[in-house]
Amino acid sequence: MAKLIEGKIVAKKILENLSDEILFLEKKPCLAVIIAGDDAASKIYVNSKKKKAEELGIKSVVIELPQNCTQQEILEKIYTLNNDDSVNGILVQLPLPPQINAKEVVEKIHPLKDVDGLHPYNLGQIAAGNKPHAYPCTPKGIIRLLEYYDISIAGKHAVIIGRSNLVGRPLSLMLLNENATVTVCHSKTKNLSQITQQADILVSAAGQRNLVKADMVKDGAVVIDVGINRQEDGKLCGDVDFWGAEPRASYITPVPGGVGPMTICSLMQNTFDLYKIQNKI
Ligand code: NAD
Repeated sequence: MAKLIEGKIVAKKILENLSDEILFLEKKPCLAVIIAGDDAASKIYVNSKKKKAEELGIKSVVIELPQNCTQQEILEKIYTLNNDDSVNGILVQLPLPPQINAKEVVEKIHPLKDVDGLHPYNLGQIAAGNKPHAYPCTPKGIIRLLEYYDISIAGKHAVIIGRSNLVGRPLSLMLLNENATVTVCHSKTKNLSQITQQADILVSAAGQRNLVKADMVKDGAVVIDVGINRQEDGKLCGDVDFWGAEPRASYITPVPGGVGPMTICSLMQNTFDLYKIQNKI
């Protein structure tokens, strides 16, 4: 039987410490979030980020733009926030409306205010084996979970399903920097199960319900499920067949309550870390 990796509890502990540190600051950190359009899920995510920031004593500014906004309007908001010394972190909620070039938007955020860690400068620093100003939130949350549970990474074979800039790609580099042997799988990968069966650490970030079945998991593997999918009954589930994989794994994350809470925790930590860099603390 696997040990449950309880991201919800780990995130709560990290955030309690963060809140104590913020309490003593005279000038509080500030997170600015730009949301464009009517995407219902994005609005829920932005509200929960704002609520969490305020609970911790982080100021939050939400800038809402209409669905038909232009590239120029978003870029002007970013330039204003880049030049506003009272703002420490800038987050652009994705996805953006179809007329917007999201890549250009992310690239225009100042790397020192790139709280999501998605700017090519910060991703490039990770690729070069250096420390970025901020790490992407979900991969950072996963590494912290492994550290918290004393799961060693060096020398392990880590298999990641998914190569997005948000999760799989930066996580592969971060695990490599921690001396794992890393294999990245994606939608064009052949014989997925033969590869996953070799994983000491198996991370699924594909967004496909039931993608990882019990027989794809090596005995004793650490299974990290990043996927967020909906079941027929509306409940959330991950990519992994949890009850099939659980008896084989040594550690496993639940969905919900595993990686998800760590992502928002990393966002808050990044806001504070950028504040410290900007204020030379
Ligand atoms: P994405 O759609 O950008 O990328 C998915 C990746 O999975 C792609 O690289 C694709 O090639 C790969 N993939 C898809 N189907 C596959 C298959 N059958 N076999 C092998 N590879 C396959 O998605 P994303 O933004 O990286 O998010 C992935 C999942 O993680 C989604 O469910 C998303 O909701 C979730 N997510 C969760 C958190 C969290 O905090 N828990 C954070 C970010 C994303």
